[in-house]
Amino acid sequence: MPTQLHPETQAIHVGIPDLGGARPLNTPLYQTANFGYDNPEELAEAINSPESFAYLRNSNPTVRALENAVSSLEGAAASLATSSGMGAIHTVLHTLLGSGDHVIVQKHLYGGTFALLRDLSARYGVDVTYIEGRDAAEVTEALRPTTKALYLETLSNPTAQVTDLPAFFAAGKAAGLTCVVDNTFASPIGCQPISLGADVVVHSSTKFLSGHCDVLGGIASFADAALHREVWSRSLETGTIADPFAAWLTLRGLATLGLRMRRHHENADGLARFLSDHPKVAEVHWPGLPGHPGHDLARRMLPNGYGGVLAIDVAGGRKETLEFTRRLRLADRAVSLGGFKTLVQQPSATSHRSMDAEGLRAIGITEGTVRIAVGLEHLDDLKADFAQALD
Ligand SMILES: *Cc1c(COP(=O)(O)O)cnc(C)c1O
Repeated sequence: MPTQLHPETQAIHVGIPDLGGARPLNTPLYQTANFGYDNPEELAEAINSPESFAYLRNSNPTVRALENAVSSLEGAAASLATSSGMGAIHTVLHTLLGSGDHVIVQKHLYGGTFALLRDLSARYGVDVTYIEGRDAAEVTEALRPTTKALYLETLSNPTAQVTDLPAFFAAGKAAGLTCVVDNTFASPIGCQPISLGADVVVHSSTKFLSGHCDVLGGIASFADAALHREVWSRSLETGTIADPFAAWLTLRGLATLGLRMRRHHENADGLARFLSDHPKVAEVHWPGLPGHPGHDLARRMLPNGYGGVLAIDVAGGRKETLEFTRRLRLADRAVSLGGFKTLVQQPSATSHRSMDAEGLRAIGITEGTVRIAVGLEHLDDLKADFAQALD
């Protein structure tokens, strides 16, 4: 090798800094697509293992740090961080379900998941039974010899239906089903479904886990390392791994998850109480209110708070509701949730626009329904904003 390298070569073979024993306090961003090995046999081994680092589609140290952090929050054996929440749900469901299999799913479901199941059914002949999600006996009634999995959400969108996870998981387990739950709305601060019997917990980390409206991501956490490995293998084909920078941003958000979740809950609770006394609000959907159907269950299952998403039905119709949301000044009109800013959206016009009036009514949505993803502002300022817009 020549002693003096050409500039073109030098620009490529830059040195990696020697830290001399110093430890970075934050997880460094390993923005690298591949890893080099002195020993070619070690490389050959690394490429086939979820534990080692060889190529970014397999794994990456920054992504691994996020996976380990969420595993400890969820009490999981292992986790798989993905490029989006849908990436996690897609990879998990495509691993668990094949042609001719049957899955039992709660009816109040994130729209993207509903579309994915519709596709799995149309393209691959996966049978789907939708249940109300109110009584665990529904699982036993829906069982078939081909049933493989049960899919639930801890808190549903937008009316915050609370699912009795221990009872549903017990019914699913008794039938040998793999129990999957989307825990996005509760976050692992609100609920740790693996401790209640879940096999797989999925999150859109775009929401509370990252918390700053600046990153798209997802994560699946597994009670059992063997299932993690199966889904990891599948993810090599779907190519859904998280980008290191997205994982790094999510880790940064995760550090304040506990503080943020407490504030989201307190703000949502305070705003829900304020709005429930307002004459222009017909109905408030928030499990913290004694009249909510999930009130007692939420107190038992989510002792650290119910997230920060509530819904209201504005008195009047579509026109009054649009006018109300238009007049909000602090709360912005945007989709998504779980960030520091308060956001509102009208499900009948956005997330659920593909459903007809009857379908909407079946899941408790009207033209006056507004979902409020309560942020971290001062509660008094939020109350004042909602009051001026309603008045
Ligand atoms: C946003 C969301 C998803 C999808 O996550 P993306 O990160 O947008 O792909 C899935 N489930 C729930 C409950 C969500 O709120």
